[in-house]
Amino acid sequence: MKQSVIDYRSGPFVTVAMGLPGDHEGKTATRVFFVLGAERIALIDSGLYAGLPALKQAFRELDIELSRLDLLLITHEHMDHVGNNGWLKAETGCTIMGHAGRADRVADNLLNAKAIVHAFPEGEMFDLRSEYLDWMGPTAGPIETFVADGDVIDLGGGVELEVVEVLGHSMSEIGFFESSSQTLVLADPLLPPFNPVLYLYEDPTVMRRTFDKIEAFLREREVKRVLLAHDDAKTSAETLQLIDDCRRRVTKVEDSIVTHIKAQPGITFAELRDRCCEDQNMVKEWRALVSIDASLRNFAAQGLARKEGNGWFYTGE
Ligand SMILES: [Zn+2]
Repeated sequence: MKQSVIDYRSGPFVTVAMGLPGDHEGKTATRVFFVLGAERIALIDSGLYAGLPALKQAFRELDIELSRLDLLLITHEHMDHVGNNGWLKAETGCTIMGHAGRADRVADNLLNAKAIVHAFPEGEMFDLRSEYLDWMGPTAGPIETFVADGDVIDLGGGVELEVVEVLGHSMSEIGFFESSSQTLVLADPLLPPFNPVLYLYEDPTVMRRTFDKIEAFLREREVKRVLLAHDDAKTSAETLQLIDDCRRRVTKVEDSIVTHIKAQPGITFAELRDRCCEDQNMVKEWRALVSIDASLRNFAAQGLARKEGNGWFYTGE
């Protein structure tokens, strides 16, 4: 028997960890969460395709027949969260639920990979096939039932999942709050500091609003524990610290951008990306382009930066 794939267990929740491929030095895993109700079993996210053996092993360890999975709940469309959707749909017959905003991407793996990897000219250099094949399986599993902020999914025996919209990292991300165990499940709005991927946010303003929303939610709903996709389970106090660190990281990306545009007028988008990654001691990654681009657009809208040809110029005082 291989080592257990069960990472954490508390109340109705069972967390399954799967390693992420690439240069993550074994520090980063992605997690999916079983939620065991008296009448229904849900799985939050399907993980990445390379983690399918871990997912299969989890069903065996928990002694859950595949056909007993009722619901697959998707936090957001990113490739490491929807990679086994197609397999789960075919093998379990579960109903797939999630946010409507990026349902087109979840329904089409190639479109999903392209939307991030090929969103920028620099991304065109990256091999879409290998990313696509590594992270998602051969078939997609589309979202069939849309849920929105405040919706409640009843799993029976007092286990209910309330949908909490947490936009910013993805503009169609949701988390789930389970009140009997006072547990909040969040995938990626609060990425851990050691995560080498600088894909922090798609919109800095919306992201900051979500940090405030999560902070208020923790206090008002007396959340006891927070389950995160790329980090260990946290107490509410630990999560508040993480929120502060996330705020600091968004600000640091923005400070880096301003510093480097001022120091090198006409700096290109790709160079800015490299400087920002260096400033955060991060691996230079195409995914970082998402956040750099978001902040540049934000600065341009505020009249703080302007693009001329291929270069960026500071226009604030
Ligand atoms: Zn994500």
